[in-house]
Amino acid sequence: MRMSKMHITTLRETPNEAVIDSHILLLRAGLIKKQVAGVYNYLPMGVRVVHKMEEIIREEMNAKGAQEIFCTALHPAELWEESGRWYAYGPELFRLQDRAGRDFCLGPTAEEVFTDIIRDDVTSHRQLPLNLYQIQMKYRDERRPRFGLMRGREFLMKDAYSFDRDKEGLEKSYQDMYDAYTKVFTRCDLTFRPVEADNGAIGGSASHEFCALSSVGESEIGYCEKCDYAATTERFECYDEPAVDEEMKEMKDELTPECKTIEDVVTYLGMKPEQSLKALMYKALGKYYVCFVRGDRELNEIKLINATGIPEFELEFMEESEIDQIGGVAGFTGPIGLKNCTILVDTEVVGMKNLVAGANKDGYHTLNVNYGRDYKADIVCDLKKVQEGDICPKCGGKVHIARGTEVGQVFKLGTKYSESMHAYYSDENMEKHPMEMGCYGIGVTRTPQAVVEEFHDENGIIWPVSLAPYHAVVCVVNTKDEAQMKLGMEIHDALQAAGIEVLIDDRDERAGVKFKDADLIGFPVRITVGKKAGEGVVEYKLRKDAEKTEMTGKEAEEACIKFIRDELVRLGHKE
Ligand code: ATP
Ligand code: MG
Repeated sequence: MRMSKMHITTLRETPNEAVIDSHILLLRAGLIKKQVAGVYNYLPMGVRVVHKMEEIIREEMNAKGAQEIFCTALHPAELWEESGRWYAYGPELFRLQDRAGRDFCLGPTAEEVFTDIIRDDVTSHRQLPLNLYQIQMKYRDERRPRFGLMRGREFLMKDAYSFDRDKEGLEKSYQDMYDAYTKVFTRCDLTFRPVEADNGAIGGSASHEFCALSSVGESEIGYCEKCDYAATTERFECYDEPAVDEEMKEMKDELTPECKTIEDVVTYLGMKPEQSLKALMYKALGKYYVCFVRGDRELNEIKLINATGIPEFELEFMEESEIDQIGGVAGFTGPIGLKNCTILVDTEVVGMKNLVAGANKDGYHTLNVNYGRDYKADIVCDLKKVQEGDICPKCGGKVHIARGTEVGQVFKLGTKYSESMHAYYSDENMEKHPMEMGCYGIGVTRTPQAVVEEFHDENGIIWPVSLAPYHAVVCVVNTKDEAQMKLGMEIHDALQAAGIEVLIDDRDERAGVKFKDADLIGFPVRITVGKKAGEGVVEYKLRKDAEKTEMTGKEAEEACIKFIRDELVRLGHKE
């Protein structure tokens, strides 16, 4: 393919809208073009990358016996009402009406549509198990669309849904998808880690998130340095530090003027943050919730949501003006004497003795507060967020925190959708059972950007061969020089004949521009045909290495073919 005939729109400047490297590079390399916030157009090079991502996913899904279908992105509201998610999905759902006033949404995920597709036609145990998937645009009105394809409002997702007779079947389907995902992300050359995850609004019993490790990722994971326990920080089960056993002392109120934060209070009282109670006040659907964790801890809102069943999008902090309605005082709220609210206490706090807590009196804290004797909770559960250096709940090792980008997630749904939407099958005895379901998503557009985040340098993208828009570029330094063009075309044609995806840069541009673009777009191999074309000599360079080697055109062809094939084999592609 001749680059002179292509729509290439590389940029030298950093676009204002982009802050992270991968987003900047996708824009600068001309792979994508923004339409509005979180909505992108995919240009020729970008489309090729996305198609490669899709093909990798298709091969691994098909290898596990999953079957591809293609569903509508326009979902009738009735389906979402049946599952209860027309309300529960909240403001992220793009809702619209047809001319007759009938409600629809643009699918953010498709459990309802897939369940609807199979429920009439799959009625016998003989038709199970079944795994169907699609690669289709998804729509989510994200609160903060950002980082380009990382968090779009319109994005491509591969979503698969498995239907099984029983839990054992689901276990196998889940494991198959887990293995397929491991292969997919390995083929993308990503450094990733599957970790336990929260099921969130989708429901179900278990889940794993595939997290591409990256300092700019929006996911946070905790992992043990000793055992293999790893989970998103949302999900991470925390270890309760054992309480020091001491006699309960008598409570007393202490004047703590101007001490509004835990830090202020403990400094003023000469205590440690671990000896204090931190209060966090929320509201949702007209009700108040007050959570207490140890003073040096953070609250994990997901644990609060799971404990109370509050829809995530309904959760808000209480306004200062509302605090007196629960008997609290801003900056001085403690557990004793609270009213009109649900009190949640972290398990770690229960056994701790003689804590300092807000006195619900302006300017005062109470000393020697003890759970059980002085106050009780409506709910006692793990509410805290794991922190760097915490103790692993599984083995006692040390926990570390890392960041990453969620590129895929697998869920055991159980019978949540099959029961609410009546997807039942009959067993050998004609008894009816709800199907056991799983669902499995991969960010088809987010994943390549996560790859760029991992593989780039100051000059541009360094594509792994498996996702590169083209494997190689032949740069002709002077296109007016016949010998150069002739040798360039010969190499191009030979590579193409060998199955290498190759471009020839025959644009009427300076060599410097061609090299810059080749580096920016990130083709794995560059063969430069310049002054020595007459002698049949060219320069061979890999994008990932600095060195350039002179060799004959034939040698360069062979080196390129070998490199591309070896790389594909290394990444686990079939030859
Ligand atoms: P996140 O926690 O990042 O919002 P999610 O858990 O809501 O993602 P899922 O419902 O599990 O996402 O979707 C499956 C996959 O789709 C994700 O693993 C991710 O790769 C991709 N994805 C989700 N939301 C977006 C988005 N807004 N833009 C691009 N890709 C997305
Ligand atoms: Mg997810």
